[in-house]
Amino acid sequence: MEDNSYNCVTISSAALQHNYNYIKSKVAPGVKVMAMVKADGYGHDMIQAAKTFAGVGCDLFGVAELCEAVRLRKAGLKGRIFVMLGFEDDEVDSFFEHDLTPVIYNYSSARSLSDKALQAGVRIDVHIKVDTGMGRLGVMPEDLVDFVDIVEGLQGISIAGVMSHFPDSDNPVSGSTEKCFTAFSRVCNELKNRIKGVCHIANSGAVLNFPNTHCDMVRVGVALYGYHPAGVEHFDIQSAEGLVPAMSFGSKVLQVKTVPKGTGISYGLTYTTHRITRIAVLPVGYEDGYCRSLSNNGEVLIRGQRAPIRGRICMNLCMVDVTDIGDVTVGDEAVFLGVQGAETITADEIAGKIGSISYEVLCLLGNNNKRVYRE
Ligand SMILES: *Cc1c(COP(=O)(O)O)cnc(C)c1O
Repeated sequence: MEDNSYNCVTISSAALQHNYNYIKSKVAPGVKVMAMVKADGYGHDMIQAAKTFAGVGCDLFGVAELCEAVRLRKAGLKGRIFVMLGFEDDEVDSFFEHDLTPVIYNYSSARSLSDKALQAGVRIDVHIKVDTGMGRLGVMPEDLVDFVDIVEGLQGISIAGVMSHFPDSDNPVSGSTEKCFTAFSRVCNELKNRIKGVCHIANSGAVLNFPNTHCDMVRVGVALYGYHPAGVEHFDIQSAEGLVPAMSFGSKVLQVKTVPKGTGISYGLTYTTHRITRIAVLPVGYEDGYCRSLSNNGEVLIRGQRAPIRGRICMNLCMVDVTDIGDVTVGDEAVFLGVQGAETITADEIAGKIGSISYEVLCLLGNNNKRVYRE
């Protein structure tokens, strides 16, 4: 089989659906939940993930770029699909052809949408992005009223929502969330009598840590995939309890051998055995999203026990020490992410070792390996 690989990411659709229902239970009954499926569904396969959430009633989806939204529609996904990062003026037709919802933050995209809508004899719903303290995309709050004046003057457009984004909501004790939310509430109130759209600002961190910020809709990413945005190691967070990681990543042992004391392992010989050592060679490397900075640092589960990475991670291979694990043989399952027996390696654990966050680990492993859904 030409698409066969030793390595496979396995995704539990039951976990994804559980997490969606859990998030639903965390917000008030009238609050809508948008599933963020950008970055190929945080590595979980955008189309499959979106369809899995749709299977438990989700009908609102968020992506970064227009091309992702088009892919979702072409795959047959129903519901509303939000494009967060805008578009080039010559791409405007796609929003009409595929019934997509743009998030806008500048006048020229508003005008090209309106022109196209008028030509087609329709009106298009847009959401306006406001920057309330992230320093990223969005109209500045002080420019918002002018911006809305202009957009309202365009006959082809209806303002269906106003949105913003929190920079630090994963931190339950950061004051910035209250500050941003105050700024956001102010603009929402100012516009309340002029537009009948929805307001939304909360991401996973805000859904879990700041229930007062849920507004009309929440946009949830990482929590749907089973992780608390802050990583459970950093805060002792009760709210992460209900989340179930959906992704596992496993491979199999390619070779096992005994090497003498004093043997250097892998490129640069950065590890030297200090005893007679059983080494298992695994067909996973940085090409598969298993970061080179896990050299002499990562751990892998084999026969239910932790085997430490020895030496550098290569492009397609890495080595682990299985001296203390009995009877490891060629073909044994090696788990890089997920559960084996009583042991678990989480994306937070790997993230901690590479100075990153679960989001990046999920993208790296998910987007670089064959993926299979189960259940
Ligand atoms: C990615 C994203 C989210 C979701 O963030 P999580 O921390 O994964 O919940 C929400 N809103 C916007 C605009 C995003 O880009």
